[in-house]
Amino acid sequence: MQKHYRIIFESFDVENPKEVTQTVINTGEIKIPVDLFDIGFSHAEQMVLIQKTQDALLKEQFTTRTGTIKYCPHCVNIKLVRDGQNKSNYYDIFTDHKITFTRKHCPACNYEVNATMKTIFGSELSVQLAKIQSELGSNYSYRDSELLFELFSQNHREINNHDRIKHTSEAVGKEIRNLHKGENELAAIAPAQEIIINVDGGHINTTEVGKRSFEAMAAVVYKPESLKPNESGTKNRLISKHCATSTCNDNQNEMIANTIVAALKEGLTPNTHITALCDGAKNCWQIIDALKPLAATTTCILDWFHISMKIHNIALPSDLKSQLESVKWHLWHGQINDALTKLTTLIWDASEKCQLSLRKLKTYIENNIDKLANYEDRHSKGLVYTSNLAEY
Ligand SMILES: [Zn+2]
Repeated sequence: MQKHYRIIFESFDVENPKEVTQTVINTGEIKIPVDLFDIGFSHAEQMVLIQKTQDALLKEQFTTRTGTIKYCPHCVNIKLVRDGQNKSNYYDIFTDHKITFTRKHCPACNYEVNATMKTIFGSELSVQLAKIQSELGSNYSYRDSELLFELFSQNHREINNHDRIKHTSEAVGKEIRNLHKGENELAAIAPAQEIIINVDGGHINTTEVGKRSFEAMAAVVYKPESLKPNESGTKNRLISKHCATSTCNDNQNEMIANTIVAALKEGLTPNTHITALCDGAKNCWQIIDALKPLAATTTCILDWFHISMKIHNIALPSDLKSQLESVKWHLWHGQINDALTKLTTLIWDASEKCQLSLRKLKTYIENNIDKLANYEDRHSKGLVYTSNLAEY
């Protein structure tokens, strides 16, 4: 009897287990060992197993990844077009690999999908290889490190020559120093009792082909004591603040991260109270919702500046103006039910032409009803109630 073995890499759909693709990793004869050299897989064979298994998994991972990138992130419903392929190096702990990326672009705006290891992941080195290179590089000479790598991977690999090990060790060392510097800076910030966050969003026009505008968000974070009054008639000024902005179309991930960093730099701790002022747009409140778990308590206030601007921009015949003033007065004093009743009466009294903008105001108030404050009360107590208090 002559026995052989076969090692197979299988990928399959969990919901449809019959759909299986198989890759043969290795085959060989099963021999009876006569000395220590015959037992199991040799060192070189073990490296082949890692090489081929990793190749098979990488191929599956990146083919699946390509399938998920279908539409332009900037244009609505525009399918991306394929442009051939790129091959990138990927250096793992023991083995080198080539990864195939499908190049794609948007026919409407010419946006190109990143299609190399460096542009997508920032490096062609696996995290573990970079870790081992920098650890060896700090404990041994770069030339000794190169020899150690060769010994363990049974292979001369360009990525592990002494120059590359030196480069990785120095790059990792630099990042660690930056990290410590950042940590020390954050640790030195005095905790804030209260921070105020203004979030605003808007659309910025662009000249880019196929795009009319893109969304931009901005947040300003400051402590109440940073707001210094100026002479009467002029605006107050902020003596200290941190800002966060983003134009990324990424479900607000970047904006949330940037706002958290800005808040930490202003002294946000789990004991801090956040006062948030927004214009009422849903995406602005989403930023604040993401910050809530990091603070003790949060007060959300619909920015008075935006309420008064909306009221100011409604054109009414002079005989109805006093009714709108009354709505504003009740809103200012936090009497929301009275304000809504007055507004409903006003809509009845107004002409069809005026009703549209009044209805929009009503919807705006109703959508943000839990964020309306007693603005008069806050004003008299010297508490913030509008983003328009200060000139940034
Ligand atoms: Zn596009």
